[in-house]
Amino acid sequence: MICNKCKGINVREENYHHVLNIKNHIIEYDAPRFICKDCRGIVPDKELDLAATIKGYDLYSAKYGIPKEDIILLRKKLNLSQELFAKIIGCAKKTLVSYEVGYSIPNDIYMGVLKLLKADNRVILELLSANKDSYSKEEYNKLINRINLKNNNSIVDKDELVNNIILYFSENGVSKTKVMCLLFLSEYNYYMKYKKSLTNLDFINNSNYLNIFGFEDTIINLINNKRLQLIYDVSSNKEMCYVKTSEYVTSDDFDPKVFEIIEAIKKEHKLLSVEQTLKCVKNNALFINSTDKIVF
Ligand SMILES: [Zn+2]
Repeated sequence: MICNKCKGINVREENYHHVLNIKNHIIEYDAPRFICKDCRGIVPDKELDLAATIKGYDLYSAKYGIPKEDIILLRKKLNLSQELFAKIIGCAKKTLVSYEVGYSIPNDIYMGVLKLLKADNRVILELLSANKDSYSKEEYNKLINRINLKNNNSIVDKDELVNNIILYFSENGVSKTKVMCLLFLSEYNYYMKYKKSLTNLDFINNSNYLNIFGFEDTIINLINNKRLQLIYDVSSNKEMCYVKTSEYVTSDDFDPKVFEIIEAIKKEHKLLSVEQTLKCVKNNALFINSTDKIVF
């Protein structure tokens, strides 16, 4: 191999330190390249150069964008081919392929669309309906039937975990506030043990009252899907309204690590009042200023 700058012949593969500026973010990493020992220049090599570029893009995507694996997963779980998915998000198939293999990074517009989809897969229906004119009625209906919105991405999987925990805690009928507290305590104990979020929920300390962003919607969904019953108790003026599961969940529905935590919480709080459980939440109030959030 000959250096094309100085024509030297001392060209060797070595781990080269890269400093790239990608969309105003500095990405630094080592990757093998062919280097001329005489002039220290990089000698082009199709395979190594491409691998080094992809490595830089991957690092950028993991930190600031959307990893290529997530794009593939998102599309596959929606049950869409590259062609159909590209058409719905409005890019050429070739462009989507280059995102999926990591040859390029989505531009700001597609990055925005992909992040929205990752956060909520139902956005696909809005994208589809916004471009309804580009499909025949038959094609459109076929697409609607084809798209799978169940278990679509990690966030929805997470939702199902939260649903199962709620159902597990409401086995004997329990107030919504207490379910919320038990969720927080599960999150707290899980975080203390494994240093990461269990549910990914936003726990909010709202004027000294525990709240969970989107909690009411989750409960309403469970009630609408007949997985949870809403029961009014007129005999007591303390807990007027509580929820009770109609779908019994067991240890089989959970990862053993998760089940160990929630089972202990359930046992510990079985006989405690809402006020006592809430007090326990307040004693454990925790703010973690990181992406592994627990905020209360
Ligand atoms: Zn050289």
